[in-house]
Amino acid sequence: MTRSTVFLHPGKDKPIRQRHPWIFSGAIERVSGHPAPGDLVDVADARGEWLATGYFNPKSQIVVRLLTWQRGEDVAATFWRKRLAAAAAARAGQDGVRCIAQTTAYRLAYAESDGLPGLIVDRYGDWLVVQFLTLGVETRRKMLLELLVELFAPRGIVDRSDASVRRQEGLPLRSELAWGEPPAGLELMENGLRFGVDLLGGQKTGFYLDQRENRRIVGGHAAGRRVLNAFSFTGAFGVYALAGGATHVTNVDSSVEALQGAEATLRLNGFDPDRQAEGIAGDVFQVLRAFRDEGRQFDLVILDPPKFARSKAELDGATRGYKDINLLGLKLLAPGGLLATFSCSGLVTPDLFQKIIFGASVDAGRNAQIIARLGQGADHPILLSFPEGEYLKGLLCRVVGE
Ligand code: SAH
Repeated sequence: MTRSTVFLHPGKDKPIRQRHPWIFSGAIERVSGHPAPGDLVDVADARGEWLATGYFNPKSQIVVRLLTWQRGEDVAATFWRKRLAAAAAARAGQDGVRCIAQTTAYRLAYAESDGLPGLIVDRYGDWLVVQFLTLGVETRRKMLLELLVELFAPRGIVDRSDASVRRQEGLPLRSELAWGEPPAGLELMENGLRFGVDLLGGQKTGFYLDQRENRRIVGGHAAGRRVLNAFSFTGAFGVYALAGGATHVTNVDSSVEALQGAEATLRLNGFDPDRQAEGIAGDVFQVLRAFRDEGRQFDLVILDPPKFARSKAELDGATRGYKDINLLGLKLLAPGGLLATFSCSGLVTPDLFQKIIFGASVDAGRNAQIIARLGQGADHPILLSFPEGEYLKGLLCRVVGE
Protein backbone atom coordinates (compact mmCIF):
# COMPACT_ATOMS: atom_id res chain seq x y z
CA MET A 1 0.00 0.00 0.00
CA THR A 2 1.43 3.36 -0.90
CA ARG A 3 1.45 6.01 1.74
CA SER A 4 -0.60 9.17 1.23
CA THR A 5 1.15 12.51 0.85
CA VAL A 6 0.14 15.78 2.44
CA PHE A 7 1.14 18.70 0.17
CA LEU A 8 1.75 22.07 1.79
CA HIS A 9 0.84 25.48 0.44
CA PRO A 10 3.77 27.45 -1.00
CA GLY A 11 5.83 29.07 1.76
CA LYS A 12 4.56 26.75 4.51
CA ASP A 13 7.56 24.41 4.43
CA LYS A 14 10.10 26.51 6.35
CA PRO A 15 9.11 25.55 9.91
CA ILE A 16 8.93 21.92 8.82
CA ARG A 17 12.45 22.07 7.38
CA GLN A 18 13.48 23.54 10.73
CA ARG A 19 11.94 20.49 12.42
CA HIS A 20 8.84 21.96 13.92
CA PRO A 21 6.69 18.84 14.42
CA TRP A 22 3.19 20.23 13.76
CA ILE A 23 1.29 20.76 10.53
CA PHE A 24 -1.84 22.85 10.97
CA SER A 25 -4.84 22.43 8.69
CA GLY A 26 -4.30 25.91 7.20
CA ALA A 27 -0.87 24.94 5.84
CA ILE A 28 -2.24 22.07 3.77
CA GLU A 29 -3.05 22.45 0.11
CA ARG A 30 -4.21 18.90 -0.58
CA VAL A 31 -3.90 15.30 0.51
CA SER A 32 -3.32 12.51 -1.99
CA GLY A 33 -5.17 9.25 -1.40
CA HIS A 34 -7.43 8.56 1.56
CA PRO A 35 -5.37 8.14 4.73
CA ALA A 36 -7.29 6.82 7.73
CA PRO A 37 -7.04 8.69 11.04
CA GLY A 38 -3.77 7.67 12.71
CA ASP A 39 -2.13 6.49 9.47
CA LEU A 40 1.40 7.45 8.56
CA VAL A 41 1.60 10.10 5.85
CA ASP A 42 4.44 11.73 3.96
CA VAL A 43 4.64 15.49 3.85
CA ALA A 44 5.85 17.37 0.79
CA ASP A 45 6.31 21.02 -0.09
CA ALA A 46 4.30 22.77 -2.80
CA ARG A 47 6.69 21.49 -5.49
CA GLY A 48 6.34 17.92 -4.28
CA GLU A 49 9.69 17.60 -2.52
CA TRP A 50 9.57 15.15 0.41
CA LEU A 51 10.04 16.80 3.81
CA ALA A 52 9.08 14.44 6.61
CA THR A 53 6.81 11.61 7.76
CA GLY A 54 4.23 11.78 10.50
CA TYR A 55 0.83 10.55 11.64
CA PHE A 56 -2.47 11.94 10.43
CA ASN A 57 -5.60 13.13 12.19
CA PRO A 58 -8.07 15.07 10.02
CA LYS A 59 -10.24 15.81 13.10
CA SER A 60 -7.53 17.87 14.79
CA GLN A 61 -6.37 21.40 13.99
CA ILE A 62 -2.93 19.80 14.00
CA VAL A 63 -3.52 17.47 11.08
CA VAL A 64 -0.05 15.90 11.04
CA ARG A 65 2.46 15.38 13.86
CA LEU A 66 5.86 14.60 12.48
CA LEU A 67 7.92 11.64 13.57
CA THR A 68 10.95 11.65 11.30
CA TRP A 69 12.84 13.90 8.89
CA GLN A 70 14.98 11.00 7.73
CA ARG A 71 13.74 9.65 4.43
CA GLY A 72 12.96 5.96 4.49
CA GLU A 73 13.24 5.60 8.27
CA ASP A 74 11.06 2.74 9.42
CA VAL A 75 8.44 4.27 11.72
CA ALA A 76 7.10 1.02 13.19
CA ALA A 77 7.60 -0.48 16.66
CA THR A 78 11.42 -0.36 16.54
CA PHE A 79 11.20 3.39 16.01
CA TRP A 80 9.08 3.95 19.13
CA ARG A 81 11.31 1.58 21.13
CA LYS A 82 14.40 3.54 20.11
CA ARG A 83 12.89 6.91 20.97
CA LEU A 84 11.55 5.70 24.35
CA ALA A 85 14.88 4.13 25.23
CA ALA A 86 16.72 7.33 24.26
CA ALA A 87 14.39 9.46 26.40
CA ALA A 88 14.91 7.13 29.38
CA ALA A 89 18.69 7.05 28.88
CA ALA A 90 18.81 10.87 28.86
CA ARG A 91 17.03 10.95 32.22
CA ALA A 92 19.34 8.37 33.74
CA GLY A 93 22.31 10.71 33.54
CA GLN A 94 20.44 13.79 34.66
CA ASP A 95 21.28 15.71 37.77
CA GLY A 96 18.28 15.99 40.03
CA VAL A 97 16.82 12.81 38.68
CA ARG A 98 19.19 9.95 39.18
CA CYS A 99 21.72 11.47 41.54
CA ILE A 100 19.48 10.07 43.63
CA ALA A 101 18.42 7.09 45.22
CA GLN A 102 16.64 10.16 46.55
CA THR A 103 14.19 10.70 43.70
CA THR A 104 11.93 7.93 42.47
CA ALA A 105 9.49 9.92 40.34
CA TYR A 106 10.19 11.82 37.14
CA ARG A 107 8.98 12.33 33.58
CA LEU A 108 10.46 9.59 31.46
CA ALA A 109 9.18 10.83 28.10
CA TYR A 110 7.83 14.29 27.31
CA ALA A 111 5.96 13.96 24.03
CA GLU A 112 7.09 16.19 21.12
CA SER A 113 10.10 17.36 23.14
CA ASP A 114 11.43 13.78 23.13
CA GLY A 115 10.46 13.03 19.54
CA LEU A 116 7.39 11.13 20.76
CA PRO A 117 4.45 13.32 19.68
CA GLY A 118 1.42 12.97 21.93
CA LEU A 119 2.98 10.50 24.35
CA ILE A 120 3.80 11.30 27.96
CA VAL A 121 5.28 8.71 30.31
CA ASP A 122 5.96 9.41 33.98
CA ARG A 123 7.77 7.03 36.29
CA TYR A 124 6.62 6.65 39.88
CA GLY A 125 8.95 4.08 41.37
CA ASP A 126 7.86 0.71 40.01
CA TRP A 127 4.80 2.15 38.29
CA LEU A 128 4.39 4.09 35.06
CA VAL A 129 1.70 6.63 34.27
CA VAL A 130 1.06 7.13 30.59
CA GLN A 131 -0.98 9.74 28.68
CA PHE A 132 -2.02 9.15 25.08
CA LEU A 133 -2.84 12.73 24.10
CA THR A 134 -3.37 12.34 20.35
CA LEU A 135 -5.17 9.99 18.01
CA GLY A 136 -1.85 8.99 16.46
CA VAL A 137 -0.63 7.46 19.73
CA GLU A 138 -4.12 6.29 20.72
CA THR A 139 -4.23 4.05 17.66
CA ARG A 140 -0.82 2.66 18.66
CA ARG A 141 -1.78 2.22 22.31
CA LYS A 142 -1.45 -1.55 22.51
CA MET A 143 1.98 -1.57 20.87
CA LEU A 144 3.18 1.29 23.07
CA LEU A 145 2.00 -0.40 26.28
CA GLU A 146 3.83 -3.57 25.25
CA LEU A 147 6.98 -1.56 24.59
CA LEU A 148 6.76 0.09 28.02
CA VAL A 149 6.47 -3.31 29.68
CA GLU A 150 9.37 -4.65 27.64
CA LEU A 151 11.66 -1.67 28.20
CA PHE A 152 10.93 -0.72 31.79
CA ALA A 153 9.45 -3.85 33.42
CA PRO A 154 7.03 -1.87 35.62
CA ARG A 155 4.78 -3.49 38.24
CA GLY A 156 1.85 -1.65 36.72
CA ILE A 157 0.87 0.99 34.16
CA VAL A 158 -1.82 3.54 34.82
CA ASP A 159 -3.41 5.24 31.81
CA ARG A 160 -4.32 8.84 32.67
CA SER A 161 -5.60 9.83 29.25
CA ASP A 162 -8.08 12.18 30.89
CA ALA A 163 -6.52 15.47 29.80
CA SER A 164 -9.02 17.75 28.04
CA VAL A 165 -6.70 18.23 25.02
CA ARG A 166 -7.85 14.76 23.94
CA ARG A 167 -11.20 16.32 23.00
CA GLN A 168 -9.44 18.45 20.38
CA GLU A 169 -8.30 15.18 18.82
CA GLY A 170 -11.85 13.78 18.85
CA LEU A 171 -10.99 11.34 21.63
CA PRO A 172 -12.91 10.47 24.83
CA LEU A 173 -11.24 10.80 28.25
CA ARG A 174 -10.02 7.72 30.08
CA SER A 175 -8.44 6.94 33.44
CA GLU A 176 -7.74 3.32 34.29
CA LEU A 177 -5.21 0.68 35.19
CA ALA A 178 -3.91 -0.38 31.78
CA TRP A 179 -1.59 -3.18 32.82
CA GLY A 180 -0.33 -5.06 35.89
CA GLU A 181 -0.98 -4.40 39.57
CA PRO A 182 -2.92 -1.41 40.90
CA PRO A 183 -0.64 1.05 42.75
CA ALA A 184 -2.33 1.00 46.16
CA GLY A 185 -0.83 3.26 48.84
CA LEU A 186 2.09 4.28 46.62
CA GLU A 187 4.74 6.51 48.11
CA LEU A 188 7.37 8.40 46.18
CA MET A 189 10.62 10.00 47.18
CA GLU A 190 11.72 13.35 45.83
CA ASN A 191 15.07 14.80 46.91
CA GLY A 192 14.85 12.59 49.98
CA LEU A 193 11.36 13.77 50.99
CA ARG A 194 8.37 11.42 51.01
CA PHE A 195 5.00 11.88 49.35
CA GLY A 196 1.93 9.70 49.07
CA VAL A 197 0.42 9.68 45.56
CA ASP A 198 -2.86 8.55 44.11
CA LEU A 199 -2.00 7.71 40.51
CA LEU A 200 -5.53 6.84 39.50
CA GLY A 201 -7.43 9.65 41.21
CA GLY A 202 -4.90 12.48 41.71
CA GLN A 203 -4.59 15.64 39.62
CA LYS A 204 -2.40 15.54 36.55
CA THR A 205 -0.43 12.29 36.82
CA GLY A 206 -0.67 12.26 40.62
CA PHE A 207 2.07 14.74 41.48
CA TYR A 208 3.48 17.93 39.97
CA LEU A 209 6.81 16.51 38.84
CA ASP A 210 7.67 19.64 36.84
CA GLN A 211 8.20 21.65 40.05
CA ARG A 212 10.82 19.34 41.62
CA GLU A 213 13.81 21.60 41.04
CA ASN A 214 11.87 24.74 42.03
CA ARG A 215 10.73 23.16 45.28
CA ARG A 216 14.36 22.42 46.09
CA ILE A 217 15.45 25.98 45.26
CA VAL A 218 12.61 27.62 47.18
CA GLY A 219 13.16 25.25 50.15
CA GLY A 220 16.78 26.39 50.16
CA HIS A 221 15.62 29.98 50.81
CA ALA A 222 13.14 29.12 53.54
CA ALA A 223 15.30 29.07 56.68
CA GLY A 224 13.77 31.07 59.53
CA ARG A 225 10.81 32.20 57.42
CA ARG A 226 7.05 32.15 57.94
CA VAL A 227 5.74 30.66 54.72
CA LEU A 228 2.48 31.10 52.86
CA ASN A 229 2.05 28.26 50.36
CA ALA A 230 -0.89 29.25 48.16
CA PHE A 231 -2.43 26.70 45.77
CA SER A 232 -0.66 24.16 47.95
CA PHE A 233 -2.27 20.97 46.58
CA THR A 234 -0.73 18.26 48.79
CA GLY A 235 1.70 20.75 50.29
CA ALA A 236 4.91 19.72 48.54
CA PHE A 237 6.44 23.24 48.57
CA GLY A 238 5.56 23.51 52.26
CA VAL A 239 7.34 20.27 53.15
CA TYR A 240 10.47 21.44 51.32
CA ALA A 241 10.23 24.78 53.16
CA LEU A 242 10.07 23.06 56.56
CA ALA A 243 12.93 20.76 55.59
CA GLY A 244 14.83 23.95 54.70
CA GLY A 245 14.26 25.41 58.15
CA ALA A 246 11.03 27.43 57.78
CA THR A 247 9.42 28.28 61.12
CA HIS A 248 5.82 27.74 59.99
CA VAL A 249 3.85 26.96 56.82
CA THR A 250 0.33 28.06 55.93
CA ASN A 251 -1.08 25.91 53.13
CA VAL A 252 -4.06 27.31 51.21
CA ASP A 253 -6.07 25.28 48.72
CA SER A 254 -9.70 25.07 47.65
CA SER A 255 -9.59 21.28 47.89
CA VAL A 256 -10.19 19.88 51.38
CA GLU A 257 -8.96 16.53 50.15
CA ALA A 258 -5.66 18.06 49.01
CA LEU A 259 -5.23 19.70 52.43
CA GLN A 260 -5.81 16.36 54.13
CA GLY A 261 -3.14 14.93 51.86
CA ALA A 262 -0.87 17.79 52.95
CA GLU A 263 -1.33 16.86 56.62
CA ALA A 264 -0.46 13.26 55.89
CA THR A 265 2.61 14.37 53.93
CA LEU A 266 3.81 16.55 56.81
CA ARG A 267 3.54 13.61 59.22
CA LEU A 268 5.25 11.28 56.76
CA ASN A 269 8.28 13.58 56.82
CA GLY A 270 8.36 13.93 60.59
CA PHE A 271 6.74 17.38 60.85
CA ASP A 272 3.91 18.30 63.20
CA PRO A 273 0.92 19.53 61.15
CA ASP A 274 -0.59 21.28 64.19
CA ARG A 275 2.47 23.10 65.50
CA GLN A 276 4.49 23.70 62.34
CA ALA A 277 1.71 24.19 59.82
CA GLU A 278 -1.90 25.10 59.21
CA GLY A 279 -4.20 24.27 56.32
CA ILE A 280 -6.81 26.73 55.13
CA ALA A 281 -9.54 25.56 52.76
CA GLY A 282 -10.71 28.36 50.53
CA ASP A 283 -10.28 30.48 47.45
CA VAL A 284 -6.77 31.94 47.38
CA PHE A 285 -8.05 35.28 46.03
CA GLN A 286 -10.37 35.65 49.05
CA VAL A 287 -8.03 34.18 51.67
CA LEU A 288 -5.19 36.51 50.63
CA ARG A 289 -7.53 39.51 50.77
CA ALA A 290 -8.64 38.50 54.27
CA PHE A 291 -4.98 38.15 55.35
CA ARG A 292 -4.27 41.63 53.97
CA ASP A 293 -7.23 43.10 55.87
CA GLU A 294 -6.02 41.39 59.07
CA GLY A 295 -2.52 42.77 58.52
CA ARG A 296 -0.97 39.30 58.50
CA GLN A 297 2.59 39.02 57.25
CA PHE A 298 4.80 36.31 55.82
CA ASP A 299 8.50 36.09 54.96
CA LEU A 300 8.07 33.76 51.97
CA VAL A 301 4.99 33.65 49.76
CA ILE A 302 4.66 30.84 47.21
CA LEU A 303 2.06 31.20 44.44
CA ASP A 304 1.66 28.12 42.25
CA PRO A 305 -1.79 28.47 40.68
CA PRO A 306 -3.38 26.12 38.14
CA LYS A 307 -3.31 27.06 34.47
CA PHE A 308 -5.34 30.30 34.19
CA ALA A 309 -5.10 30.59 30.37
CA ARG A 310 -6.16 27.54 28.40
CA SER A 311 -6.81 29.48 25.20
CA LYS A 312 -5.96 32.85 23.66
CA ALA A 313 -9.47 34.02 24.52
CA GLU A 314 -8.67 33.49 28.20
CA LEU A 315 -5.36 35.35 28.15
CA ASP A 316 -6.66 38.76 29.31
CA GLY A 317 -8.58 37.28 32.22
CA ALA A 318 -5.60 35.12 33.12
CA THR A 319 -3.30 38.16 33.10
CA ARG A 320 -5.63 39.95 35.52
CA GLY A 321 -5.79 36.84 37.73
CA TYR A 322 -1.99 36.53 37.92
CA LYS A 323 -1.65 40.22 38.62
CA ASP A 324 -4.27 40.11 41.36
CA ILE A 325 -2.75 37.24 43.35
CA ASN A 326 0.77 38.60 42.95
CA LEU A 327 -0.30 42.05 44.08
CA LEU A 328 -1.84 40.49 47.19
CA GLY A 329 1.13 38.17 47.73
CA LEU A 330 3.57 41.09 47.58
CA LYS A 331 1.47 43.09 50.05
CA LEU A 332 1.63 40.26 52.58
CA LEU A 333 5.43 40.18 52.61
CA ALA A 334 7.37 41.47 55.58
CA PRO A 335 10.49 43.59 54.81
CA GLY A 336 13.08 41.43 53.05
CA GLY A 337 10.39 38.90 52.18
CA LEU A 338 10.55 36.54 49.21
CA LEU A 339 7.95 35.84 46.55
CA ALA A 340 8.18 32.58 44.60
CA THR A 341 5.63 32.96 41.85
CA PHE A 342 4.73 30.65 38.97
CA SER A 343 2.60 30.35 35.87
CA CYS A 344 2.05 27.06 34.07
CA SER A 345 0.05 28.68 31.23
CA GLY A 346 2.07 28.13 28.06
CA LEU A 347 0.38 31.17 26.51
CA VAL A 348 1.90 33.42 29.16
CA THR A 349 5.48 33.89 27.94
CA PRO A 350 8.33 34.44 30.43
CA ASP A 351 8.48 38.02 29.18
CA LEU A 352 4.76 38.65 29.72
CA PHE A 353 4.94 36.97 33.12
CA GLN A 354 7.72 39.27 34.25
CA LYS A 355 5.69 42.28 33.05
CA ILE A 356 2.68 41.07 35.05
CA ILE A 357 4.78 40.73 38.22
CA PHE A 358 6.24 44.17 37.58
CA GLY A 359 2.71 45.62 37.26
CA ALA A 360 1.72 43.88 40.49
CA SER A 361 4.76 45.32 42.31
CA VAL A 362 3.95 48.83 41.10
CA ASP A 363 0.35 48.56 42.32
CA ALA A 364 1.43 46.96 45.59
CA GLY A 365 3.93 49.77 46.13
CA ARG A 366 6.71 47.23 46.69
CA ASN A 367 10.02 47.32 44.88
CA ALA A 368 11.49 43.89 44.24
CA GLN A 369 14.53 42.18 42.75
CA ILE A 370 14.54 38.98 40.73
CA ILE A 371 16.98 36.63 42.43
CA ALA A 372 16.26 33.56 40.30
CA ARG A 373 14.40 32.68 37.12
CA LEU A 374 12.69 29.33 37.40
CA GLY A 375 11.32 26.85 34.90
CA GLN A 376 10.25 23.28 34.36
CA GLY A 377 12.69 20.56 35.43
CA ALA A 378 15.24 18.95 33.12
CA ASP A 379 12.96 15.93 32.73
CA HIS A 380 10.54 18.29 30.89
CA PRO A 381 13.03 19.46 28.23
CA ILE A 382 12.27 22.16 25.67
CA LEU A 383 13.29 21.44 22.08
CA LEU A 384 14.72 24.52 20.38
CA SER A 385 12.62 23.64 17.34
CA PHE A 386 9.49 23.28 19.48
CA PRO A 387 9.21 26.19 21.92
CA GLU A 388 5.57 25.19 22.57
CA GLY A 389 7.03 22.59 24.95
CA GLU A 390 7.81 25.35 27.44
CA TYR A 391 4.97 26.15 29.80
CA LEU A 392 6.19 26.49 33.38
CA LYS A 393 7.95 29.67 34.39
CA GLY A 394 8.59 31.30 37.71
CA LEU A 395 10.37 34.15 39.41
CA LEU A 396 11.94 34.22 42.83
CA CYS A 397 11.79 37.85 43.96
CA ARG A 398 12.96 39.68 47.05
CA VAL A 399 11.27 42.89 48.17
CA VAL A 400 13.72 45.69 48.79
CA GLY A 401 13.56 49.04 50.63
CA GLU A 402 10.56 50.07 52.65
N1 SAH B 1 2.03 23.67 44.29
C1 SAH B 1 1.45 22.35 44.12
C2 SAH B 1 0.63 22.21 42.87
C3 SAH B 1 -0.49 23.22 42.73
S1 SAH B 1 -1.73 22.71 41.63
C4 SAH B 1 2.56 21.30 44.20
O1 SAH B 1 3.76 21.65 44.16
O2 SAH B 1 2.23 20.13 44.31
C5 SAH B 1 -2.96 23.90 41.83
C6 SAH B 1 -3.81 23.74 43.07
O3 SAH B 1 -4.62 24.91 43.18
C7 SAH B 1 -4.78 22.57 43.09
O4 SAH B 1 -4.56 21.80 44.23
C8 SAH B 1 -6.19 23.21 43.14
O5 SAH B 1 -7.06 22.51 44.01
C9 SAH B 1 -5.89 24.56 43.70
N2 SAH B 1 -6.77 25.66 43.32
C10 SAH B 1 -7.23 25.99 42.08
N3 SAH B 1 -7.90 27.16 42.10
C11 SAH B 1 -7.88 27.59 43.38
C12 SAH B 1 -8.37 28.75 44.04
N4 SAH B 1 -9.03 29.72 43.38
N5 SAH B 1 -8.15 28.87 45.37
C13 SAH B 1 -7.48 27.91 46.04
N6 SAH B 1 -6.96 26.81 45.48
C14 SAH B 1 -7.16 26.65 44.16
